[in-house]
Amino acid sequence: MQEEFLKKIIPNIFLTDSPSGFDYKVNDVIINILTELGYTYKLLNKNTILVKVEGIDNSKIVATSAHVDTLGLMVRSINNDGTLNVTNVGGPLAPTLDGEYCKIETRFDGNYTGTILSKSPSIHVFEDSKTMPRDFEHLLVRIDEEVKSKEDVLKLGINNGDYIFIDPKTVITNSGFLKSRFIDDKASVCLLLALLKEIKERNIKPKYMTYFYFVHQEEVGHGASALAKEISEFVTCDMGCVGKDLAGNEYAVSIAAKDSGGPYSYELTTKLIKLAKENNLNYVVDIFPFYGSDVGAAWRAGVDCKGALIGPGVAASHGMERTHLKAIIETMKLMYLYLTK
Ligand SMILES: [Zn+2]
Repeated sequence: MQEEFLKKIIPNIFLTDSPSGFDYKVNDVIINILTELGYTYKLLNKNTILVKVEGIDNSKIVATSAHVDTLGLMVRSINNDGTLNVTNVGGPLAPTLDGEYCKIETRFDGNYTGTILSKSPSIHVFEDSKTMPRDFEHLLVRIDEEVKSKEDVLKLGINNGDYIFIDPKTVITNSGFLKSRFIDDKASVCLLLALLKEIKERNIKPKYMTYFYFVHQEEVGHGASALAKEISEFVTCDMGCVGKDLAGNEYAVSIAAKDSGGPYSYELTTKLIKLAKENNLNYVVDIFPFYGSDVGAAWRAGVDCKGALIGPGVAASHGMERTHLKAIIETMKLMYLYLTK
């Protein structure tokens, strides 16, 4: 189901930087794809993209979403030696950032490259190079420019509050793995686009009027807070958890029964499990121990809808993530069944 299309759009979307709050570049990419597929869209004030797809019965409105925003860093301050102190945007797993390449985008006209390093980055010089904590207090950015002072950095146009993009290092292997940062939740963005393509090509109408949301600022907690109040059901697509005692894995679609915010809607979750079971999908049901989703954001914003969460299993989340195309396709199939059956 749309595997070639997925392989085509994954690099475009994954390699376009989009940490929470920095949305216009990736929105251009998504809007281009939507336009090519023949869809119209609405851009909401918080830059969420909304695509409305008419159903067979338009008296009921259901919604799905994926969040486009990812994790990143921002310049917290400039050191006297020309390095940058950082603050996190969302919750990247800090120790995994040590040694990663990055880009710094100034607010007006500059783009620079750099490397995220510990503050004791050389084994030949620093006694604590191995033991220095890898947290945001002890990580810095070394800019790839001849800067020797704070003034040199300011002259480049770099200032506090500029975004630092972490290199996603996106690769699709011959064995079908997608390894990259920010599979959470760009894999879901790609599968919803692939689903829109599938619906268009097969000339299929969903059962009900369906709102597709491509959401920003989920990683900072309030992504889908602008969901339309008339929505009665909301099935968001976000990453499935993998590890420890959980059933989730990189080949299956996870259906979440509960996360940190409590249980998802019983009837809706049961409906999804039933659809997965009856159609022989590779699925698991799990609880996600340290997790919140856009359903929670919509509920807290006062949207009176039933809510459920499905998504491809993603290993090493918020670090160097990995999933398999199989998990993305299983999630797409389940969403297709939900929208059409
Ligand atoms: Zn997510």
